[in-house]
Amino acid sequence: MTLDRRNFIKLLGSASSLALAGCATQGGPAVGLTTEIMPKGSARRVVVVGGGYGGAIAAKYVRMLDKSIEVVMVEKNKQFISCPFSNFYIAGIYNDMNALTIGYDNLAANHSIKMVYAEVTLIDPAAKKVVTTEGTLTYDHVIVSPGIDFRTEEIEGYDENTPHVIPHAWKAGAQSTLLRNQLQAMPDGGKVIISMPLTPYRCPPGPYERSCLIAHYLKTHKPKSKLFLLDANPDVVSKKPLFTKAWSEYYKGIFEYVPGKKVTRIDAKEKNLIVEGIEDHKGDVVNFIPSQRAGNIAVKSDLVGDDKKWCPVHPVTFESAKHKFVHVIGDACSPPSTGAPMPKSGYSANSQAKVCAMNVVAMMNGKEMIELSGINVCYSAISDHQSVSIAAVYKIVDHKITAVPNSGGISPADFSMAQAEHAYGESWLKNILTEMST
Ligand SMILES: Cc1cc2nc3c(=O)[nH]c(=O)nc-3n(C[C@H](O)[C@H](O)[C@H](O)COP(=O)(O)OP(=O)(O)OC[C@H]3O[C@@H](n4cnc5c(N)ncnc54)[C@H](O)[C@@H]3O)c2cc1C
Repeated sequence: MTLDRRNFIKLLGSASSLALAGCATQGGPAVGLTTEIMPKGSARRVVVVGGGYGGAIAAKYVRMLDKSIEVVMVEKNKQFISCPFSNFYIAGIYNDMNALTIGYDNLAANHSIKMVYAEVTLIDPAAKKVVTTEGTLTYDHVIVSPGIDFRTEEIEGYDENTPHVIPHAWKAGAQSTLLRNQLQAMPDGGKVIISMPLTPYRCPPGPYERSCLIAHYLKTHKPKSKLFLLDANPDVVSKKPLFTKAWSEYYKGIFEYVPGKKVTRIDAKEKNLIVEGIEDHKGDVVNFIPSQRAGNIAVKSDLVGDDKKWCPVHPVTFESAKHKFVHVIGDACSPPSTGAPMPKSGYSANSQAKVCAMNVVAMMNGKEMIELSGINVCYSAISDHQSVSIAAVYKIVDHKITAVPNSGGISPADFSMAQAEHAYGESWLKNILTEMST
């Protein structure tokens, strides 16, 4: 660590302590206050909002690092269903979602994490309270990892019924089942359309992986059918040489990639996507993935930046640039970056959760903070038994998250590793979900 950086981190620590001292006298009633679920005793408390790829790991690591800190995790669902590998289920390669599903009982028991199954309706930074559908919780620090929600108000004709006819399947669970069932019910000779948004969105290679796996399903079960991927971006945004090779070698005649098609209107009844207000794209099965922003709770709690989409955070502590003692990790956050930012992936969320947990514990104990050493590896299937990957390591340069040159890359273009990488990918899923649930 350079002297400059050390001073910078010390300064950051003292700024937070000052803010902590100030806040002790602020108090004030929380907006929408209901009863306290677990009145806070003398122990210091971290509340974690969301038990997904970021939140579950942050909760676990705070407890592992300092047993004197009480951790309460608030999650709206009793089971978590992973988006990674949900494309396998949609495309009929997995028969069910068992491999994607985890509960919280073991995690909570092993680390004495207090679980609250409720929806968070507001984070009130002034009162240092989290308001939930079951009551309120007071915190010393709150770590927020709510994932994404959709900017559907930008699409004319999109309403609350649209996803029941035209699934997004970009949050795993009932939406994945709906898309899978629609594909299975479609007669051979049908037309499937996937529409994907402009970057940034959750999982850059995800829509391309989905196109490969649905094309594989059609090739195997309904070979007279056609699949079109309407990409709002002007070109493939992730693993381009690998996906374009897979499309042309494996799915020629079945699949067509159509770049630069930004959907602006939807007619759910007709299963019609309208591009730039004029161009009709009707399908028998339509999978429309809307553009995204940080989860609704982050928007409601004034954590998003001027763009009204993503939450600006400090790159070392993941503390919100807008509110002290509130930290945002995972898909919802947008730390300052040089070049390509860390992708919105489960692996990035896991990496950020560990750094954030360490620094929250350091802030609470007046210790020096650690710098980010972030990793992302993302496997994408190109068929039922072959996968490719992209990897990078990230560090802080000039207070910005920066990919370390030559630290990663993409799989060999000849697919010589694709079968092995398929096995690595499945073991990645098992490992990361085990880490989150034990
Ligand atoms: C099809 C697809 C494939 C993908 N494949 C990969 C992959 O191969 N590798 C990879 O690394 N990433 C992949 N991803 C991306 C990955 O799913 C996300 O980046 C990751 O889930 C982000 O973690 P998170 O903690 O930010 O959000 P999530 O994991 O979505 O967790 C958010 C949690 O917060 C809860 N929550 C939200 N709001 C509230 C509230 N108000 N109150 C209470 N609880 C709340 C939710 O219920 C959820 O459990 C894929 C995504 C998709 C859609």
